[in-house]
Amino acid sequence: MPIQPVDLLLTGGYVVTMDARRRLIPNGAVAIKDDKIVAVGPAPELETTFQAKTIIDCQDCVISPGLINAHTHVPMTLLRGLADDLRLDVWLYGYMMPVEREFVNNNFCYIGTLLACAEMIRSGVTTFCDMYYNEAEVARATAEAGMRAVLAQTILKFPSPDATNYDESLEYCRRFIEEWLDHPLIVPAVGPHAPYTATPDMLRQCVRLATEYDVPLHIHVAETALEQENSRTQYGMTVVPWLDQYDLFQAKVIAAHCVHLEDGEMHTLHRHNAGVAHCPSSNMKLASGTAPVSKMVNLGLHVGIGTDGPASNNDLDMFEEVRLAAFLQKGVFGDPTLLPARKVWELATIEGARALHIDHLTGSLEPGKKADIAIISTDRTHQLPHFHRDPEAVYSRLVYASKATDVRDVIVNGRVLMRHRNLLTLDEPEILSEAGEIARQIDAFLMAREESILSKLLAISADFIPQETFEIQVKVRLDEPFDLHTRLQEAGLTAYKPSRRDQYDTYFLFKEHDTDRLRFREDEIRDEQGNLLETFYTMTLMGPTSEKEYEHSILLTRARYTATAGHSLRFYREYFKPVEEREVIKHRQRCHVLYKETDFAINLDRMVVPEKDTLYLEIKSRTWSAKDALHKAELIGELLERLGLQTAAPVKNEYVEMVRPGNGK
Ligand SMILES: [Zn+2]
Repeated sequence: MPIQPVDLLLTGGYVVTMDARRRLIPNGAVAIKDDKIVAVGPAPELETTFQAKTIIDCQDCVISPGLINAHTHVPMTLLRGLADDLRLDVWLYGYMMPVEREFVNNNFCYIGTLLACAEMIRSGVTTFCDMYYNEAEVARATAEAGMRAVLAQTILKFPSPDATNYDESLEYCRRFIEEWLDHPLIVPAVGPHAPYTATPDMLRQCVRLATEYDVPLHIHVAETALEQENSRTQYGMTVVPWLDQYDLFQAKVIAAHCVHLEDGEMHTLHRHNAGVAHCPSSNMKLASGTAPVSKMVNLGLHVGIGTDGPASNNDLDMFEEVRLAAFLQKGVFGDPTLLPARKVWELATIEGARALHIDHLTGSLEPGKKADIAIISTDRTHQLPHFHRDPEAVYSRLVYASKATDVRDVIVNGRVLMRHRNLLTLDEPEILSEAGEIARQIDAFLMAREESILSKLLAISADFIPQETFEIQVKVRLDEPFDLHTRLQEAGLTAYKPSRRDQYDTYFLFKEHDTDRLRFREDEIRDEQGNLLETFYTMTLMGPTSEKEYEHSILLTRARYTATAGHSLRFYREYFKPVEEREVIKHRQRCHVLYKETDFAINLDRMVVPEKDTLYLEIKSRTWSAKDALHKAELIGELLERLGLQTAAPVKNEYVEMVRPGNGK
């Protein structure tokens, strides 16, 4: 046989092919020409058949397909360790999104991706699947690093760091796809973030875009139990059928997480050949649950393994991920035979490639495929000794004993990216120094934010209305039952805008910002019969109050900031970490009266907590000058007299001050 010229010959290693027969070749070799594998076989055979420009001796090493990180958000390396040990919503809405809004731009995505690529190459990853913003910059950095990637441009129903609306994101995504479609390393993709951040119209347009260019569609699916619960209550169905309504699975879907799938949903994914990206570290760290991976695999679904973003992991170490994937199934489902070493190595290589819809390119070592290869040392102390009785022990060695740092060389698309642990395409010290600079800026931003409750609140509220109010008010305690309606009539006053409501207030008190109080209010509006009409939630920051006393009444000047409370009380509690909480519950009858051409609000409050069943009457009016306040103080005095309350003693305390301190949670 004539000697054929090739570019690269990897020889003398233990070849783990991951081909259809899962061939294992001790003392094997892989011949590479240009970007492709041309032969895989015993070393003596290939050494005589091929003449290589470069020969890499792989003695004491495994030659394996490079690992495939099936789901991540690579620029988030720059947010690694920023905020941990928090619940998903506090982590996401309290930290990640505000910082992203402030910092994510082209440079952030470019530097973050370079850092991620350096880390991934070091751990034997040759391909990854991403979803983030400014994805063209992620592509640019990835191509420079020489890695293969499926890169999805994120699309959200609300404004994102790189778009003010989803039409803009879709347009960006289209340009991104067109720019990178024919690149040898990059597979551009469409990334509607998740069902709960999408609208039906947005999803339909994403599917149209993905099918038009025949590119994958990357989406988070059923990551948390809450997501499924909300979908059931909102739409009367779980997320997969909901997505199916909008023909999502017509596209080549990559569904990340899939932790809380019902059996029928797994069948739907399988029927449509959707890939699944299982992220064990992230699911454990954020306590999302355990994905039924064994079940999905048995069903024939293509499941890959992903690290998820480095802000929720916090690294991109696929060796750790592979091992956790195996351990998690065994431990949680109580069966040590689940997801054996060979199977889990399949998920990290060939099945990962299938999940990403690129198994025609990568995922196994066989002629015709791209040369995406990790060469892993197996002669370290923690990997020895070796047993040869069962050749499949090599998978145990890889999954249960090897570490990312055992990866010696990495080749992608026929190009050597790491040799003897030296990165050949990236300037690591330069990347680390730039990453450090961005981290310093983020640190300064967050430290400034934590200095005031207001700036913390502004960081998570889009519709905040800062407002300083001046109010003149009187509050009197009523010792006898009081019929507001009748009393107003008798006083010759006409009530307007009447309402009845139950108000549940939780006040957060802070030690360092002791003049600031944050109030979370649930208002249950009721009709005359007490039926619930609507419920709404507001968050109010009450800044320092200054007071001036008049006869009968006090002038209050205070800064108040009120917004719709878009999150749960639990979220605000975990985000603001108050030192004390106080609860005030009352039934409030409210109306306005016009008295001598001046508007007054009147509240008749029956307390539930504290001081059960105590009645208070409040008369309030907005004011804007000392002279006006004096005038209104006089009018309030007259109103009290008309209502027969001239002898009632004014109460200076606000309700929150009547709560005995110290019942904080
Ligand atoms: Zn994710």
